[in-house]
Amino acid sequence: MTLAQPSHNKAKALRPGATRPAKELCSECGFCDTYYIHYVKEACAFLNQQFPTLEQQTHGRSRDLEAENDVYFGVHQDMMAARKQQPIEGAQWTGIVSTIAIEMLTKGLVEGVVCVQNTESDRFQPQPVLATTPEEILAARVNKPTLSPNLSVLEQVERSGMKRLLVIGVGCQIQALRAVEKQLGLEQLYVLGTPCVDNVSRAGLQKFLETTSRSPDTVVHYEFMQDFRVHFKHEDGSTETVPFFGLKTNQLKDVFAPSCMSCFDYVNGLADLVVGYMGAPFGWQWIVVRNDRGQAMLDTVMDQLDTQPVMSVGDRKAAVQQSIPAYDKAVTLPMWAAKLMGVVIERIGPKGLEYARFSIDSHFTRNYLYVKRNYPQKLAAHVPEFAKRIVSQYKLPD
Ligand code: FAD
Ligand code: SF4
Repeated sequence: MTLAQPSHNKAKALRPGATRPAKELCSECGFCDTYYIHYVKEACAFLNQQFPTLEQQTHGRSRDLEAENDVYFGVHQDMMAARKQQPIEGAQWTGIVSTIAIEMLTKGLVEGVVCVQNTESDRFQPQPVLATTPEEILAARVNKPTLSPNLSVLEQVERSGMKRLLVIGVGCQIQALRAVEKQLGLEQLYVLGTPCVDNVSRAGLQKFLETTSRSPDTVVHYEFMQDFRVHFKHEDGSTETVPFFGLKTNQLKDVFAPSCMSCFDYVNGLADLVVGYMGAPFGWQWIVVRNDRGQAMLDTVMDQLDTQPVMSVGDRKAAVQQSIPAYDKAVTLPMWAAKLMGVVIERIGPKGLEYARFSIDSHFTRNYLYVKRNYPQKLAAHVPEFAKRIVSQYKLPD
C-alpha cells in the first residue's frame, strides 16, 4: 500500500520573478519557491498576522500585554548579555549563532541546519543552504544584509528525510515556518532567530552603501550599533563609522524594502532562542531564551561564553518623539552636527534594554505610519496588539 502524499506536494512553486501573493510587501522569504505555497494565505507574515496563535503553539502562551518586557521583547523565560570567549573570525558579532548551530549538529541534536551563505561572485547575495557539516555552517557566518529566501530549501528538507532540524532565520521567515511546522514531517524543530530590521533588496543595499560609505565596494560587514553609529568594516580590516543622525535620510527613504517598513516582528517572537545585540552593552550580544528548547540550545555553548545580566539605563521617550517628525520630513543634519549629537546621545542616551526599546519604538512608529498611509485597509488586522500599545505612547503626524 502506498501512503497518500500530503496535498501540498501537488502544489507548484512559483517561478523566479513571478509576482508573489503578498505582492510588493513580499519579503522574498523563500516560502513561495516551494510547494508549501499551498498554505501561503494562512502562512505568509504579510497576508495573515497571527502572533497570539503561533506564540501559544510555540511557547505554550502568548505575550502578556500587561508586562512591559513581554510587550517589547516577546515571550521569554530568560535574557542576558553574552559574548564568546574566543570570537569566530569573520562572524557578524562574536559568532554565537554559528557556534550554537555547530554544537547542535556535532552533538547530534539535529541532522541539518537551514542557514544562508553567499554566492561565489557576490559577498552580499544570499544563498540559502541545508548545511550538514560544521564547515557549511561556518561558511554561512556574517549577516547577508539583504532579503534572503531561506525557506526555499524546505522542499529539500522533506526530500532528505531528516527528522531533526535547526532553522536559523529572521522574523518573517520564521512566521511562515511556524505556520507549516506540523506539515514538515519533522520529529523535532529548533529555531534560532536573530532580530531583523531595515532590510533591503540587493539593489537597495548598493544604494545604501554608495550613499553612506566612503568606499562602498570594499565593505565586508556593517551594523547599526548601540553607540548610534553605523560601523562599516572594509576588506583591508579598517573600520569606518557614520553617525545615524548624519545618514542621508532624504536619499535613503525608499531604500528599505516595503516588507520591512510594515514589519512588527523586530525581535523574532516565534524563535526558540534569539541572538542579537541591541539589548546588551556595546561589544556584547543580547540573548533571549523564549522556551525550554531555546534553553537547551543555549546550554550547548554556555561553557564557551562570558555572560552578564541585562541592564537598562536612561529614558528613550523624548528622543523617540523628536525623531518621528525628523524622519518624516527626511531631515539630514550637517556632518559636524550629526557627530556632535552622536557623542552627546552616546554619553547620556539610553543603554541596554532601554536602547532596544528606543530602537523598537522608533521603528514601530515609523512602520505604523507607513502602513497607515500606504495600506490603510490592512492597518487594523496587520498591526499586532503589542505594537499598537507601543505606538500609542507617542504623538504621530497624520
Ligand atoms: P554569525 O555567527 O555571524 O551568524 C550569522 C547567521 O545569520 C548565519 O547563520 C546566517 O545563516 C544568518 N543570516 C545572515 N543573513 C541572514 C538573512 N538575511 N536572513 C536570515 N538569516 C541570515 N540584531 C539586533 O540586536 N538589532 C538589529 O537591529 C539587528 N538587525 C539585523 C538585521 C539583519 C538584516 C540581520 C540578518 C540581523 C540583524 N540583527 C540585529 C542580528 C545581528 O546583526 C547578528 O546577526 C546576531 O547578533 C548574530 O551574530 P553572530 O556573530 O552570533 O552571528
Ligand atoms: Fe510568499 Fe514569503 Fe513573499 Fe509571503 S513573504 S508572498 S510567504 S515569499
